[in-house]
Amino acid sequence: MKMYLGGEWVDRDEKITVLNPYDGSVLDTVPSASIEDVDSAVASAERGASDMAKLTAYQRFEILHRTAEILSERREELGRTITMEEGKTITEGRTEVDRAVQTISLSGEEAKRLYGESIPFDAAPSWTGQMGFTLRVPCGVVAAISPFNFPLNLVCHKVGPALAAGNSVIIKPASDTPLSALALTEILLEAGAPPESVQCLTGSGGRVGDPLVADPRVRKVTFTGSRDIGERICRTAGLKKVTMELGSNSPLIVMPDADIEKVVAATITSGFGNAGQVCISAQRIITSDRIYGDYLDALKDGVEAINAGDPLDETVAMGPMVKTQEAVRVNAWLREAVGAGARMVTGGDYSGAMHAPTVIADVDPDMKVSCDELFGPAVAVTPFSDIDEAIATANDTNYGLSAGIFTQNVDWAMKFAQEVDSGNLHINSGPGWRADMMPYGGLKESGMGKEGPRYAVQEMTELKTVVIHL
Ligand code: NAP
Repeated sequence: MKMYLGGEWVDRDEKITVLNPYDGSVLDTVPSASIEDVDSAVASAERGASDMAKLTAYQRFEILHRTAEILSERREELGRTITMEEGKTITEGRTEVDRAVQTISLSGEEAKRLYGESIPFDAAPSWTGQMGFTLRVPCGVVAAISPFNFPLNLVCHKVGPALAAGNSVIIKPASDTPLSALALTEILLEAGAPPESVQCLTGSGGRVGDPLVADPRVRKVTFTGSRDIGERICRTAGLKKVTMELGSNSPLIVMPDADIEKVVAATITSGFGNAGQVCISAQRIITSDRIYGDYLDALKDGVEAINAGDPLDETVAMGPMVKTQEAVRVNAWLREAVGAGARMVTGGDYSGAMHAPTVIADVDPDMKVSCDELFGPAVAVTPFSDIDEAIATANDTNYGLSAGIFTQNVDWAMKFAQEVDSGNLHINSGPGWRADMMPYGGLKESGMGKEGPRYAVQEMTELKTVVIHL
């Protein structure tokens, strides 16, 4: 495919090859953008921003509404594209398209709800001759940098609110999975987005990232990806608005009164969906020592029943990781933990990008599989003896994106909600749960700012205060 730059589809001699992670076949190539391309994209996006600023809220709503309709019409084809470039199962691919439809529809609605408010100046002792109000205005040019793991919906979480708020947007998709973002660009244009309101720049983040993020004409950077790249972007961006949706090693606390069957089902959904490559995947299963053995026995059976294989096969429940290097890395971390005294309960092998669903027990919280972000199809189980220890273990991390607890005890549930440092907290669910309308974002090094269209549009605007001196 070509990339979309300066109002046209353009090609370059230097290419990035997009591979199917399941069988290593070549799916397509995309141009590898240069630093000069970044400059052209930003210049074009500035013109696009003034085109967007001329649209009414209703016109912006209409563009996004039509985009959602076309996404829905192209569900099957887009689902297959996601599956083939990312490796998630076809069921997960279709679900991602359905979620993208929601994300874009919700964003369109938000275009109509960009309210300001009146300011009661006479609430101060000496101000009696003023009236004032706030106005929400677009930031201008938004750079939207996205990760590989949800190549359509996470792009929509940036592009939808950016356009709803009246900005132009430069999409920089992950190099492993650029095809879904290019398809979305095509759909936005078909839906009536002004030709220069969207740019989709394919190219290595290592090359185009710094110049894009540092450019003073870019007024807002919205990034989803790893902690380290997020921190680098914050340093490079300088004085501009940033939203950071970063990584995690999400805990699931299993209290002694939990229904083991439900916890096992939640561990499988939350820990092995998308081969564990979800920012809120259940990674650390912190389990009461009173049910530790029973839970591990049941989990072993459940995980061994996961049908892993060709993600286009409708009966398959787990596909490959995004690339072989990732399976190699995950396996090395697991082996390192076993070498340090952890116990492999099941799994532990890989072939190419396919890593077996794995359970590792007796994990010390200092082991890398626990304290770092694993981002793969494995869960690390650690015992605890009381809720204070469970909460301390859950909080013993620099991350804080999502956490879950299973219990019927309302006191334990509320203690968990109040004391666990996490942006999202789930009672009687795994941490790997997100609805696209909810405010979503991390504490600590999991990021700053919120996504979810209602919250993201606020972050895609600047607030002006207007004072009338009577
Ligand atoms: P990544 O390696 O950080 O890459 C994310 C994006 O940043 C890619 O488009 C990448 O481009 C680009 N990039 C790389 N270097 C850059 C630079 N110097 N400047 C600007 N951009 C640069 O992350 P990933 O492996 O794709 O995704 C996995 C990570 O994302 C995990 O940590 C996961 O937890 C996190 N994530 C977080 C959320 C959330 O909502 N909190 C959701 C999903 C994923 P290239 O691909 O060309 O390198």
